[in-house]
Amino acid sequence: MTELIDHLADMAGQRDRDLMDHSFLGLIDDLLAPESLVLARIRGEGEKRVWTMLPARRRDPSTRPGHLQPYALLSSHVRSSESGRIVCEPHADGQRTLVPLNTGSEPCGVIELQTDSPLDESATRTLVGIQRFYRHLRALLDENERDAMTGLLNRKSFDEAFVRAAMQVDDANPDSNHWLGVVDVDHFKRVNDRHGHLIGDEVLILIARLMRSTFRFDDGLYRFGGEEFVVLMRAPDASAATAGFEQLRHEVEGFDFPRVGRLTVSIGFTRVEASDLPSAAFERADQAVYFAKANGRNAVHDHAMLVESGAIELKTAAAEESGSTGIEFF
Ligand code: GH3
Ligand code: MG
Ligand code: MG
Repeated sequence: MTELIDHLADMAGQRDRDLMDHSFLGLIDDLLAPESLVLARIRGEGEKRVWTMLPARRRDPSTRPGHLQPYALLSSHVRSSESGRIVCEPHADGQRTLVPLNTGSEPCGVIELQTDSPLDESATRTLVGIQRFYRHLRALLDENERDAMTGLLNRKSFDEAFVRAAMQVDDANPDSNHWLGVVDVDHFKRVNDRHGHLIGDEVLILIARLMRSTFRFDDGLYRFGGEEFVVLMRAPDASAATAGFEQLRHEVEGFDFPRVGRLTVSIGFTRVEASDLPSAAFERADQAVYFAKANGRNAVHDHAMLVESGAIELKTAAAEESGSTGIEFF
């Protein structure tokens, strides 16, 4: 009982999904002591779903790991994870139980337990309870870090993700490069003025959807409030980053927004430096957006290129202190 409460307290205190899932497996392991236990998580949506496996726990290390075959088999269980039904079936090595996990509306994973004999009613009830507990906890985590309207991540989760990305940046390894993009809808005020706020909101939801279909599942997509979106993406170099942002610009340009018709976005981006601060990188990307706004909109600009070409000035702390921004405080 004490161990159970410990696990529950652990899970409820986690703000990190990996750690929460580990506590979760520990809880099931202690309660039901299966021969083996595997958790496979779904990331991304629709076509872009990918599975990641959390290492199997096994009673006896010499037994074979769980039978959850990463991709082919798991995909066939997405349906059951959508319905939430627990599936028990005989298997060559005993019994296999699949516990689908979801966050309320979206499937987010499957747990597989291997046992010597079928689970009894009380064990199955325990699993149903655990499944519900997981769903509520995940929903809380999601609500806390997502923007309710578009479902994109919110500003709160950005800083942490940015710092993690900046820590990964290794100048000797282009694969570690991250880019921060700011996406601002052009003349969005007109949409509200002409069609009302509800239609304006609908446009923001559709733009969020276009972002999801354009970027990879592991790119961070954020709404900072208003009609401003942020993308934290991994790309080896500026031209790959440009291609990603250009694709979004192109998708938006070609999209027929119901009632509203055509819209465009202006995008500014910057490379995340190893010692970068979220606010500094955001300001650089925003400066590039500002340049796009002043030069015809519907464009993608790389901050570093603008500085290099002399189109904009590099803002440095020293420059701001000396008042070269033109703002006088005293
Ligand atoms: P620009 O091309 O220079 O970006 O022009 P703009 O009209 O898009 O720029 P501005 O920043 O002046 O206007 C943004 C508008 O976005 C103002 C505000 O009413 C609207 N807005 C901000 N948040 C929301 C929201 O959540 N829903 C809706 N419908 N409108 C919003
Ligand atoms: Mg704006
Ligand atoms: Mg705007």
